Amino acid sequence: MLNIFSAPGRYIQGADATAYLPKELKRLGMSGCALMVTSATPRRQLEALWRETFLLQGLNIEIYDFGGESSLDEVAKIKRQAEDHKVSVIIGAGGGKILDAVRASAERLNLPVICCPTTAASDAPCSTVSVIYTPQGVFESCLLSRRNPDLVLVDTKVILKAPLRGLIAGMGDALATYFEADACSRAGKLNILGGSSTLCAQMIAQLCYTTLLEDGKTALEDARRGLLSPSFDRIVEANTLMSGLGFESGGLALAHSLHNGLTAMKETHAFMHGEKVAFGALVQLILEARDNNILSEVLSFCFSVGLPMTLADIGLAKLTREQAENIAQLTLAPHESAHNEPFPLNSKQIVDAIFAADAQGRAFKSGAASVGA
Ligand SMILES: [Zn+2]
Repeated sequence: MLNIFSAPGRYIQGADATAYLPKELKRLGMSGCALMVTSATPRRQLEALWRETFLLQGLNIEIYDFGGESSLDEVAKIKRQAEDHKVSVIIGAGGGKILDAVRASAERLNLPVICCPTTAASDAPCSTVSVIYTPQGVFESCLLSRRNPDLVLVDTKVILKAPLRGLIAGMGDALATYFEADACSRAGKLNILGGSSTLCAQMIAQLCYTTLLEDGKTALEDARRGLLSPSFDRIVEANTLMSGLGFESGGLALAHSLHNGLTAMKETHAFMHGEKVAFGALVQLILEARDNNILSEVLSFCFSVGLPMTLADIGLAKLTREQAENIAQLTLAPHESAHNEPFPLNSKQIVDAIFAADAQGRAFKSGAASVGA
């Protein structure tokens, strides 16, 4: 068994990083035209700067407005745009779905791909994985590209302007990273790249978790006040770089499988990936019979930053056992990473753990409320 670790070609993070994008493209040897796939908000904020700085470097830019879902249809549309304009690189500027669709399109054309996340809402930017949904938003599959993005460029001024909910959801996605990587490692299961984990991936996943605990709450308060602070910077790095490297080279386990199962419930569609993953992490901790100290540490972190801790928090206040059984079946589909847990699982255990996590979350909240009162 080989140990495999992968990462983007380069990661750049900082205030006003956007201005460096064309210079970086030149460094990578790119010329001619770039296809920029984006959505309304980043386009409004950044289009003038893109056009000005690309021109200075003698590069052309074609902008395509993303259709809204990382579906195979959308991947095909982006690919067609790239072919029509004979571009030499595809850039995604936006949220995780844009970056996923861009990565899958670039893979089909064997073109370099650049990810410019405009929120720190998930660990999608650094990875080789594209999550594909149906046009209705139900999880469909994960596509693996041959390589990680050539560049991930994170402009913290842009991230700071994004809705706070994204930053919180990104912390939810990052919260699961350590526990999932740890489950894979204890079980001797493979990471996303089909190899064993490295010490480096384990340490990054662990650092991701401790960074959340140490900086999560402060970063959120700073962001709320519009401050680019060291804590905010560290959380952007945890959500984007550490979580991205940690999940891909460390591996996924139950939390993400449960997320995938949850997406079949339309009531959860209004909730972000990381919000559902956070609840998945709680379910995973219950299934793993983690000790109470870790469970309370995670619950109090979720509470401190406003991450979901109960079924009601993800739109499932009225979840029946029958519906939970369906979620459990999907969680245990043969391709799912739930099988990376260090013990075999059945759907009854998962159903019980879903309701147990909900009960723990509710108890924690009511305890916190009575302390507050
Ligand atoms: Zn995720």
